[in-house]
Amino acid sequence: MKEIIELDGAIGGGQVLRSALSLSMVTGRAFRIKQIRARRSRPGLLRQHLTAVMAAAEVSGAHLSGAHMGSQSLSFEPGAIRAGDYEFAIGTAGSSTLVLQTLLPALLRAPQASRVTISGGTHNPLAPPTDFLLRSWLPLLRRMGGDVELDLVRHGFVPAGGGEVEVRVQPSSLMRLDLCERGEAISQQALALTAGLAPTVAQRELSQVAKRLNWPAEALRPVTIDPARGPGNVLLLEYVFEHVTEVFSAFGQVSLRAEKVADAAINQAADWLRSDAAVAEHLADQLLLPMALAGGGSFTTPRMTDHLRSNIEVIELFLPVRFDCREEGGDRLQIEVLQTD
Ligand code: ATP
Repeated sequence: MKEIIELDGAIGGGQVLRSALSLSMVTGRAFRIKQIRARRSRPGLLRQHLTAVMAAAEVSGAHLSGAHMGSQSLSFEPGAIRAGDYEFAIGTAGSSTLVLQTLLPALLRAPQASRVTISGGTHNPLAPPTDFLLRSWLPLLRRMGGDVELDLVRHGFVPAGGGEVEVRVQPSSLMRLDLCERGEAISQQALALTAGLAPTVAQRELSQVAKRLNWPAEALRPVTIDPARGPGNVLLLEYVFEHVTEVFSAFGQVSLRAEKVADAAINQAADWLRSDAAVAEHLADQLLLPMALAGGGSFTTPRMTDHLRSNIEVIELFLPVRFDCREEGGDRLQIEVLQTD
């Protein structure tokens, strides 16, 4: 009988499950997970997670059990990865970028090119906004050799959803990336996206950016999205450095002042800028998997996080790698992926 990897989902959230799906597809190793998202307020599989499971099963011809809404346990036995023209619908405003990230490692190793369309949310709190993938994460994946093109077809905000992303993937292998320094600062811009909201929302967010960061008018861009896609608002702060681009985001909410939305994004950026680390919290946990699949790589980030810790634990279960984490004083932690055989 083939060995089945056993996972305890309570070590983290949805990322534990999504990383296990990606790793299972690329290694061909089956897994069983219990206590999926056990510590979250609505535990078990939500639509976004269930869509990722069903999509992973379709791409890898997997045998499944426990794949239903609210389920806290799942078993997944993958077959061969199949290239194709896929369409997946989350059916709610659940994050389409998280579903996309689940599938990418497998599609890079498929025998032919693939195209995938995913509908749902494209700009969700607590998930990578599509702009973050486009400007920050994907350029690094491409630098590692991944041949991936992403289009934002239609914006989708919470709660309405209805957005769409389309990705084209050519089979390609990933190479080591070392990202320990940001390099020189090149440019910065703030984008205030609004759909179906008064123009003053974007104006106030951008004024707060101008006031606190002293950025010139050319760096401040209000972007009006089709009101039919609304209501929705996100402020994105983009920092282009020589070796990395970071994108920080904060979402507008009913009864949250526009200035406070801006402050939330500015404070995240300030934390990273104060540190001497190359990548901030979110980019860090999203680099672990591609670097492990490349069989090596390193980066610096301000500190250890729950997402880093649980993702490292999952990756080490599937792949012959280990992560060496070294404090380099103050707010700088260096993480290096090493092969173990
Ligand atoms: P849960 O509700 O169980 O926490 P989830 O499926 O929504 O689960 P997480 O396990 O929390 O998701 O994973 C969220 C992922 O989204 C992480 O990789 C995290 O770094 C990333 N992420 C969250 N916020 C941002 C952001 N503002 N920019 C970029 N990435 C983000």
